[in-house]
Amino acid sequence: GQNIKQNIVMAENVRAVLPRRNPAAHKGTNGRTLVIAGSRGLSGAAAMAAEGALRAGAGLVTLAAPASLQDILATKLTEVMTKPLSEIDAGGISREAVADMIELAAGCDVLAIGPGIGRSEDTAAAVRETITAVECPLVLDADALYVLAGFTGLLTECAALPVLTPHPGEMARLTGHSIQLVNSDRINITRKAAGEWGSIVVLKGARTVVAFPDGEVYINPTGNAGMATGGTGDVLTGVIAGLIAQGMSSHDAAVAGVYIHGLAGNIAAQSGMVGLTATDLLKAVPAALYGINN
Ligand code: AMP
Ligand code: MG
Repeated sequence: GQNIKQNIVMAENVRAVLPRRNPAAHKGTNGRTLVIAGSRGLSGAAAMAAEGALRAGAGLVTLAAPASLQDILATKLTEVMTKPLSEIDAGGISREAVADMIELAAGCDVLAIGPGIGRSEDTAAAVRETITAVECPLVLDADALYVLAGFTGLLTECAALPVLTPHPGEMARLTGHSIQLVNSDRINITRKAAGEWGSIVVLKGARTVVAFPDGEVYINPTGNAGMATGGTGDVLTGVIAGLIAQGMSSHDAAVAGVYIHGLAGNIAAQSGMVGLTATDLLKAVPAALYGINN
């Protein structure tokens, strides 16, 4: 039906669902986020996702990454706890890490997985096993989406409705369509995917589309072309996960997360859109939250 409502996300919608910070809050009440990310040469993606969760207000963030990245990540990330995972020769997560990942997830309120994990067969198998075994809500991005191509049936085996955050290239691979087709019919293709995969699907890019399995669709008005630079998508993954950690439903966190992320991009662009970096975006997330709440 073409009469299904397509909602434009507005600040008041986001304000209504954002968690209010209890004056007596402590780090434990603001949720535990687990990020599984990174491989050799892609430590920045892991760092961006972990910091995205912190900047969205998450209480405690743990980053699990291939063991050889430990020192780099621990040096980069002052506030994030780091856990080493078993890795393959190419420097990605190995299948031996699956038990550890499942155990870590059991102690967390949300798992975000995918930024920079790489695409080796071992890592792919480890990701597919982990996402179908854990009980917590999931945010799946980047190479976790790459390794789901041909395996989207697994998504209905996830304990909670997973949030998928593909860019048009990742969406093209997952659906088997060309990137041109994905971009020419963004709303319908995203809605159909959400229904087929039983997932919340966030199709990124200018005017990000968020679709739900029941056909509900949101269009995000915030953001700008300065965000077309490496690392900004990894920040979004962390922001959505950080909101879920604080008690938001995956549904509300997906819609609010893309709005807040784009608003942070607009705030960062006030000091120059061209040359904006994902780090600038991260630093603007608290101001975006403040702007929505006040
Ligand atoms: P990724 O491709 O995974 O790095 O994600 C890029 C992020 O930047 C997504 O959240 C996009 O929605 C956002 N982005 C990229 N280009 C634009 C644009 N032209 N306008 C608004 N947002 C954008
Ligand atoms: Mg990305």
